[in-house]
Amino acid sequence: MRILWFCIPAYGHTNPTIEVVRELTRRGHEIRYCSFEIFRGEIEDAGARFVSCDAFLTPLDRESERRMRRVSATEMSVRAFELTAAMDGMLTDEIAAFRPELVVSDSACFWGKLTAAKHGLPLVCSTTTFAFNRASAGYIQTSLSEAADMLLGLPRVRRAMQALRPLGYAVESPLDIVQNKNDTDTIVYASESFQPCAESFDRAHYRFVGPSVKPVEPKEKRGRPLVYVSLGTVINDRPDFYRHCIEAVRGRDAELLISCGRAFDAASLGPLPENVTVENYVNQMEVLSRASLFVTHCGMNSATEGLTMGVPELLYPLTGEQRAVARRVREMGAGRLLERGEAASPQRLGTAIACALADEGLRFAALRMREDFLACPGPKGAADFIEEIGNRTR
Ligand code: UDP
Repeated sequence: MRILWFCIPAYGHTNPTIEVVRELTRRGHEIRYCSFEIFRGEIEDAGARFVSCDAFLTPLDRESERRMRRVSATEMSVRAFELTAAMDGMLTDEIAAFRPELVVSDSACFWGKLTAAKHGLPLVCSTTTFAFNRASAGYIQTSLSEAADMLLGLPRVRRAMQALRPLGYAVESPLDIVQNKNDTDTIVYASESFQPCAESFDRAHYRFVGPSVKPVEPKEKRGRPLVYVSLGTVINDRPDFYRHCIEAVRGRDAELLISCGRAFDAASLGPLPENVTVENYVNQMEVLSRASLFVTHCGMNSATEGLTMGVPELLYPLTGEQRAVARRVREMGAGRLLERGEAASPQRLGTAIACALADEGLRFAALRMREDFLACPGPKGAADFIEEIGNRTR
């Protein structure tokens, strides 16, 4: 089968697809993957042909860059619509040359979903967050600034959307594109028990395959417990939070490893206590295999990777979507919410870390989640589903 694959330029959305692509190419399917240069190596290594979209990204002015770093929904929608228009010609040529039988698109990838609709191609939606419909969207607590951003940005979004219509794209609204629809064939990288309101999704069209990661064996925990801190790959420019974490463990019987992000200057945190290490990027699954506690921003991937390794979590969500993940991890009993006041005080943060490390209930719940995730069909199940849809629609 010939599959045209689309994803947005984000680790959290690309990483889970890699093992699925590897499995499909291993089974002999031909995949062209439209993505961005930072992911070329991994995509090609998984056996797909890489289609570069970088040249179609327009440079950002300072204000737009600042908004993108804050994950502004307005900025992201406008940019996604502009990119869709800019890639229209290239994608039309690509489709004529490749003649894909199926499109797989990330749920947040406007141009992937819109291209499938424009060219009348069957679509499988790859959802690396929870699946969100009317019921599960109740888990997203939008902050005041997020709501203001969306409201004030409406005229800009509308203009960008209108510019697409003459090119043959039927666009209703950004929400209409990103929300999960009951009749769209959809892969969700969560287990059915972790997905909020799972019963509200049509089983004929939804496959909850669980986290899509290369399994790593947990290591035996000896010596000082390892506390791993990461705010993910997008909103990680938080020097104050990292400093509070460092002070929280100074002189304590624990080791701290912070992954601060590729753009962050680790040296700016100054000399570190002997029990603290700061890295720009780590092999997260390997670190989690040694960790006793994960202080996480609750990106869907990070949260599920931690639980796949049976590591309890201290939850520090920064966006509405991350608050949804945090709430679900708490409901499963495998994490404890880090209040804003605790995060802002090294002393209270130290107490929160010590309490979480000593909490047997959290640890058992995290191990239960590990079992639940390991029993999921994973990347092979996602590949089976894509083959089923391909066979059904050919
Ligand atoms: N990641 C990693 N090393 C790091 C930090 C992050 O491998 O030092 C990976 C992590 O394993 C996860 C992804 O980057 O797969 C982050 O995705 P997530 O959904 O957790 O958060 P986002 O970065 O999208 O906010």
